[in-house]
Amino acid sequence: MTNLQSIIYISGSGRSGSTLLERIIHSSDCVSALGEFHCLWRLPETDITCSCAAPFISDSFWQPVLKTAAIDASVLAELRELEDRVCRTSFIASHRFDIKSLRENRDVQHFLDIQFRIFEAVAGASGSSVLVDSSKAGPRAWLMACHPKVRIIHLYRDPADVILSWRSAKFDPGMGQEMKRMSVAAAATDWWKVEYLVKRLGKATPVARVDYGELCARPERTLGNALAALSLPTKPAPAWIDATSVKSKDNYHSLNGNPDRFDKGPIRISKREADWNKVGPAERLTIIAVAKVLGLMLPSSPSS
Ligand SMILES: [Zn+2]
Repeated sequence: MTNLQSIIYISGSGRSGSTLLERIIHSSDCVSALGEFHCLWRLPETDITCSCAAPFISDSFWQPVLKTAAIDASVLAELRELEDRVCRTSFIASHRFDIKSLRENRDVQHFLDIQFRIFEAVAGASGSSVLVDSSKAGPRAWLMACHPKVRIIHLYRDPADVILSWRSAKFDPGMGQEMKRMSVAAAATDWWKVEYLVKRLGKATPVARVDYGELCARPERTLGNALAALSLPTKPAPAWIDATSVKSKDNYHSLNGNPDRFDKGPIRISKREADWNKVGPAERLTIIAVAKVLGLMLPSSPSS
């Protein structure tokens, strides 16, 4: 057995700042952040570039971890198949949004058991007692919450900023191409789905909330409050250099996320201001109107 104590799951919409958040938490001695962990079975292995810059198939961290956990191509296919079945809003709804009912489901148990084999192997290889999974997906937050070692952070970002970010081009060296761009409608639907599911989850189990804007304005206090709210057996202590920067730590093997995960050196925390010049006037008005409707449907609440 390893000393794995907790998994912090970050739930939020795409472009909500989860890579920044996980990099800050990873700077703590006791933590290893894994990036968007579900990419392990969602993406072909040739499409994964670890944040240490190694191609996944020859990564000196992940390959021994998978071997220890006895994960081969057939198990990854099984995870993919299980995910298709249980990691869905319709599946969560069929269990009446009830954690107890989900926890008793055999497929959910099996899905989590395989992943915890990997988490245990990661903890063994890294010596970390806390892992961070920033897959962000809303249905996944519900499934992860079924396990007693998992704690959930809800990362909130203003819908206008999120939609605008989806409309702006950004190059991803990990994928060797521009990051995916979504239509306004698809980005709005993605934001709404994740927000709805995590807000509803907050009524069933404790969820710590981090507002991206507040995190950038007051990083230490905002993250400190959220981590305190998670009641972790060992509380991560990020390596703050000053009020707005954190020392980066080696052994960062994030599977996927924002291209910032490849940056070395200190992590400077500052809000990425939305650049409205990247979209035309008509689209600008559409984004503002859509964001306003989303804000009315799911109003923001303060950070934990
Ligand atoms: Zn690596």
